[in-house]
Amino acid sequence: MTDQTVKFSVLCSLFNWMQRSKSSAKKRSKFRKFLDNFCKPGDYFSAIRLILPSLDRERGSYGLKESVLATCLIDALGMSKESEDALRLINWRKGGAKTGANAGNFALVAAEVLQQRQGMASGGLTIKELNDLLDHLASSGNREEKTSVLSELIKKTNAQEMKWIVMIILKDLKLGISEKSIFHEFHPDAEDLFNVTCDLKLVCEKLRDRSQRHKRQDIEVGKAVRAQLAMRVSDATTAWKRLHGKDVVVECKFDGDRIQIHKNGAEIHFFSRNFFDHLEYGHGMSNIIVQNILIDRCILDGEMLVWDTSTNRFAEFGSNQEIAKAAKEGLDSDQQLCYVAFDILYAGDTSVIHQSLKERHEILRKAVKPLKGRLEILVPNGGLNAHRPSGEPCWSLIANNVADVERFFKETVENRDEGIVLKDLGSKWEPGDRSGKWLKLKPEYVHASSDLDVLIIGGYYGSGRRGGDVAQFLLGLAERSAPNVYPRRFISFCRVGSGLSDDELNALLTKLKPYFRKNEYPKKSPPSFYEVTNNSKERPDVWIDSPEKSVILSITSDIRTIRSEVFAAPYSLRFPRIDRVRYDKPWHECLDVQSFVDLVQSSNGN
Ligand code: ATP
Repeated sequence: MTDQTVKFSVLCSLFNWMQRSKSSAKKRSKFRKFLDNFCKPGDYFSAIRLILPSLDRERGSYGLKESVLATCLIDALGMSKESEDALRLINWRKGGAKTGANAGNFALVAAEVLQQRQGMASGGLTIKELNDLLDHLASSGNREEKTSVLSELIKKTNAQEMKWIVMIILKDLKLGISEKSIFHEFHPDAEDLFNVTCDLKLVCEKLRDRSQRHKRQDIEVGKAVRAQLAMRVSDATTAWKRLHGKDVVVECKFDGDRIQIHKNGAEIHFFSRNFFDHLEYGHGMSNIIVQNILIDRCILDGEMLVWDTSTNRFAEFGSNQEIAKAAKEGLDSDQQLCYVAFDILYAGDTSVIHQSLKERHEILRKAVKPLKGRLEILVPNGGLNAHRPSGEPCWSLIANNVADVERFFKETVENRDEGIVLKDLGSKWEPGDRSGKWLKLKPEYVHASSDLDVLIIGGYYGSGRRGGDVAQFLLGLAERSAPNVYPRRFISFCRVGSGLSDDELNALLTKLKPYFRKNEYPKKSPPSFYEVTNNSKERPDVWIDSPEKSVILSITSDIRTIRSEVFAAPYSLRFPRIDRVRYDKPWHECLDVQSFVDLVQSSNGN
């Protein structure tokens, strides 16, 4: 049998079986039997890319998240947008009589809708045909084309098979088996090889024979490497103890995009942590890289950020794509992309990951000529240190004792940076490692006292376990027309989901449910006492139909706030969390916009 003849229904049986079975060992052995009985070694990739869709980079992105997929499926099935089933797909997160138990799981809701339209019999789609159609789906540029590929898939499958295809498109099969186990069952060296190449096709092709061991392969320029990651620790003392006796460097934890720059002459790649090549960064960065990286071939590890030339500091997280786009269009701006290299993995014609971090820092110093606000290196006593105004914290420091770490951490927090990373200067760079060679320490959420007591103005349905029920809230700040007068308007300001136990959340929902006003497709304008923007991210699934009926939540958050374009208020919170529900506090004592802005500005030192 080959992938030309093996039916996708066989793979679906494996998926169904794996999903039902609780035992990881049994899942693994069933996977092995599938490979042995149904796949020729030459076809491993065809099957495994469907089992591990999130690791497959051979085809581009489908550009189909649940909401667009819903619209395409509705068209592919020829349904009216107003029909009950179409609304179930669009409002897939919501519960209700029909969607019931499946709410929050798009693939299951889709399967229910498809069940009534597709026969039980499989259309006989083969694995090869499925891969060809998925290629077509990824390469098609517009919705009509995507819709026509989906209708072809629907013709060739039954609802069960189509459900799995939807999960493959959404890149999450929920099989209850780790990618590590799949790799280990496939070949004992598969994970290692994947970590240094991020190339699933190559892994499937090179490791066809399970009994033949593969010599450890080193990294190569042009092939993304699985990023080394940091382990979280709770405080400086714990971090110091874990690195006991080691030479330790502490670095600022920059808040941008983790990017590996691969330079091979004029060829440059910008690989993200998910090993996508972000070529858009080339517009702002390629020339700088060519001119300021002094060796022909190298791999740098670091963070892509935005530098603001008017304030002489890094901009807040989140504007990288916008600035890359502005650079492409040649627009003038005070903001520019800036790459901070904190490591080097390859230099000249050799991998350097086996050398110590201390040695790699020296190589990095020689390989890169820093250019202020464009290309920086993060090494102790050099690089970015030189650019900080005196008195401000440096970005990287050799720590001699725990007090050094604590001081550095405190300064970092005061500077409103994300946190710190501690690294063993004697350690190698390990692809995919999170075992504690790098430790991260982030500021605790700062309790914002009773000052951040804000009103619930809307709710969002959850997914997964919380599907069908409101699981997140849209919060509002009061707009006061005069002191001592009850506020009449509330300005949307942030969205929050975490912090409450299941019992606390259920109690809150019981109280609020009678006042939910649904905001389902087509979305209507909000109740008149709420001010929101037109940003779709902000639009909740339900509104609280009057502020007097609502409840105040006490919110804690990362000490930093972010400027907000999504919400109506000028600032929002980063990493907000519900501290407690204030049933005791009346709705009209909600924090007002002006007090919040004052609070933000005073904590930002403005
Ligand atoms: P978080 O959400 O806390 O960033 P994460 O899961 O994305 O966590 P971690 O492994 O916990 O990733 O932290 C490492 C990340 O921190 C890196 O992927 C990188 O993007 C970022 N980072 C920023 N500054 C540094 C630095 N100096 N050294 C290493 N990583 C850094």
